[in-house]
Amino acid sequence: MNILLPTSTAGSLPKPSWLAEPEKLWSPWKLEGDELVVGKQDALRVTLQEQELAGIDIVSDGEQTRQHFVTTFIENLSGVDFENRRTVRVRNRYDASVPTVVGAVSRQKPIFVEDAKFLRQQTKQPIKWALPGPMTMVDTLYDDHYKSREKLAWEFAKALNEEARELEAAGVDIVQFDEPAFNVFIDEVNDWGIACLERAIEGLKCETAVHICYGYGIKANTDWKKTLGSEWRQYEETFPAIQKSNIDIISLECHNGRVPLEVLELIRGKKVMVGAVDVATDNIETPEEVAETLRGALKYIDADKLYPCTNCGMAPLSRQIARDKLNALRAGAEIVRRELRPKKPNEFYKNLFNNRSNQ
Ligand SMILES: [Zn+2]
Repeated sequence: MNILLPTSTAGSLPKPSWLAEPEKLWSPWKLEGDELVVGKQDALRVTLQEQELAGIDIVSDGEQTRQHFVTTFIENLSGVDFENRRTVRVRNRYDASVPTVVGAVSRQKPIFVEDAKFLRQQTKQPIKWALPGPMTMVDTLYDDHYKSREKLAWEFAKALNEEARELEAAGVDIVQFDEPAFNVFIDEVNDWGIACLERAIEGLKCETAVHICYGYGIKANTDWKKTLGSEWRQYEETFPAIQKSNIDIISLECHNGRVPLEVLELIRGKKVMVGAVDVATDNIETPEEVAETLRGALKYIDADKLYPCTNCGMAPLSRQIARDKLNALRAGAEIVRRELRPKKPNEFYKNLFNNRSNQ
């Protein structure tokens, strides 16, 4: 990126009310057949325009073509039976009715590649595409075949890698894997979670990111957060291994939460998408509040590696609130960019002094 502090969003953005019921996860589509295909493309155009108008530098599809960030990918794999549902506890947090793995899972066809090509045609700005991470996928299913979370994750990693390579070929600049499960199953992250992620990015030349957050602003997540104590130190236990991994960018929740920012020291050298906008509240951050979070992160991240971002996706928010938050993100980043810009007159006198003392 040749812009300092390039802004982006973690992933999902609200859908228009004519496409799906707003402010709701897993919201059913309101259109069918060809109308749905065209409707999703129109929604993608709208969300792109909203990001561009807000001055977001790295844009995305806002996940307009998927009902949910994990299930839509899984629906397109073989070996998963969506009729045969079981209730499981997702991320140790809430019960959900999920599909069952009944045979070997594999990717039979491209899943988001046509959508990515469509987005690529609409904009010249860098684009980021989010996929679910292997561990988070495993946690959203009942496994009646492999009977091993690790084995299932490994198979998902292979399928994700096939998809990621085609997304790269379609012109995606950053492929991101969403791994909220990384903040829950800490031992497994270190045992096999990061290895599976590295399998998913194998052979990619585009940049790769992992998004690790404390979830959408839904009640199950906000209730869970209340049990985590006064300081959230989950990142501390996985960062040393992530720092050594081949992943280029780490996307994190840093605003309004209880994450002590000094944990960022553990991933020094990596690029970091710093969540500077809270998605769990309708309050709009002031640009100064965004700037303050970015300044805090700058103590641990070199300026050329800091990417201002949202804490998580904004699908459950109203469209107006999401727009206002994007504007706050851009304005906050601008404040800090101005502070970082070299003060030209001073540079001039410094060089003059250096030249004289060399003579
Ligand atoms: Zn998230």
